[in-house]
Amino acid sequence: MTAYDYDLLVIGGGSGGVRAARVSATLGKRVAIAEESRFGGTCVIRGCVPKKLYVYAGEFAEHFHDAAGFGWTVGETSFDWPSLVAAKDKEITRLEGLYRKGLENAGVALFSSRAELVDAHTVRLLADNRTVTADTILIATGGRSNPHSALPGHELCISSTEAFDLPELPRAIVIEGGGYIAVEFAGVFNALGVKTTLVYRGREVLSRFDGDMRSGLHKALEARGIRILTETVLEGVRRGADGRLHAITSGGEALDADQVMLAVGRVPNTDGLGLDRAGVATDALGAITVDAFSRTSQPNIYAIGDVTNRIQLTPVAIHEAMCFVDTVWRGKPTAPDHEMIATAVFSRPEIGTVGLTEEAAARAYRDIEVYRAEFRPMKATLSGSAERMIMKLIVDAGTRKVIGAHILGPDAGEMAQLLAIPLKMGATKDDFDRTMAVHPTAAEELVTMYQPSYRVRNGQRV
Ligand SMILES: Cc1cc2nc3c(=O)[nH]c(=O)nc-3n(C[C@H](O)[C@H](O)[C@H](O)COP(=O)(O)OP(=O)(O)OC[C@H]3O[C@@H](n4cnc5c(N)ncnc54)[C@H](O)[C@@H]3O)c2cc1C
Repeated sequence: MTAYDYDLLVIGGGSGGVRAARVSATLGKRVAIAEESRFGGTCVIRGCVPKKLYVYAGEFAEHFHDAAGFGWTVGETSFDWPSLVAAKDKEITRLEGLYRKGLENAGVALFSSRAELVDAHTVRLLADNRTVTADTILIATGGRSNPHSALPGHELCISSTEAFDLPELPRAIVIEGGGYIAVEFAGVFNALGVKTTLVYRGREVLSRFDGDMRSGLHKALEARGIRILTETVLEGVRRGADGRLHAITSGGEALDADQVMLAVGRVPNTDGLGLDRAGVATDALGAITVDAFSRTSQPNIYAIGDVTNRIQLTPVAIHEAMCFVDTVWRGKPTAPDHEMIATAVFSRPEIGTVGLTEEAAARAYRDIEVYRAEFRPMKATLSGSAERMIMKLIVDAGTRKVIGAHILGPDAGEMAQLLAIPLKMGATKDDFDRTMAVHPTAAEELVTMYQPSYRVRNGQRV
């Protein structure tokens, strides 16, 4: 083992890579990590963290408006985009510093460089063109926005990465996509007063979510003034003589905008990584294929996080990192558990979800009960907002287990996190029923829906 420079070399200093490197070093391993951009990776630098900060920024517009219903007179308000960008930059720089410090304190060697595999034990650091060797290599290079190269004019468009740092707030934006990143950014720009158009090839946004969440959000986005063109794609983007962009839709419409953002999926960062030279196999999409323990086709090389295209979420990358540590260093082979992962969409209104959608449950189970409540949140009674909240529990009628929970409305993400615990533990509907409500909250609906709204037997609603 000492023949190598390091016991472990991690490629990629994002959510998964940083955790694996830091914990491995605390176990006494000689660890190095290479990061070509900034430590913290997608989540901290250009993903979850800045996104949530921008969502908060957008919410103020609504708070100012709602305040009148509660007796407040809010004076003239104004918003300054560069101030938000600067404040965001300051925060992510602080977080990046914490990530670096955590690694350094654990004794990890940090390389600010792109790394490429030379063979199964050797990595070239491009910044100073030297090679280092390691007994075990962990690839945690994450993913990047799909550039949609087939779209004429795609080079005129931005991705979520550039959207965070636009020099000025656009007056109008067209966003192509219907996934969570597309709807979250549509919500942010709309809240900040930008004329926002969402172009989506499906019939309703968020294709893999529960149908009620999809239609509820879809309606709410439109009610907030976001124009959604469904069953539509962009066929080209060009810059007009006036300097503005014109996005041409499959419906033949020319949408004028200052920015066109593409949010049509993410691709794994494996290009030019030297995987062939190291004997690491990829799938048709370029994602690294791994076994249940995140081991690649090359036995001493592992891969975790978005680059493996399993479930592209920060907590999942971190969990996979901890399983890697258990498997490789602690002698406890541990396969990541990808069941019952709670997740949130920070759209306006928010979605929180855990477990099976009604549609998936109806396919997987012979008999399910659906408990559904739709109501106006208490705050809306005085603020005057027409927005509705939806809560849903999906129960396997055979075992009484709650197999899915879905919420649309304020704080849905926070609720999903807490619901994930009983669902993971296998709680039954009877456990929910005997749980005392917290009053007055929206969440109390989750323990007071005593009668099923309907059942789905053999795929048929009864
Ligand atoms: C806009 C947006 C919003 C998101 N919001 C959420 C959210 O709310 N909640 C959530 O859970 N997830 C969210 N995600 C997803 C989350 O960011 C990712 O799932 C997570 O960051 C994956 O971690 P990772 O370690 O696999 O990769 P990353 O965090 O992407 O880190 C990979 C790192 O590797 C580096 N790298 C790549 N190639 C090389 C190389 N050859 N040499 C050296 N370094 C290299 C990259 O620069 C990067 O820093 C969001 C993503 C985006 C884009």
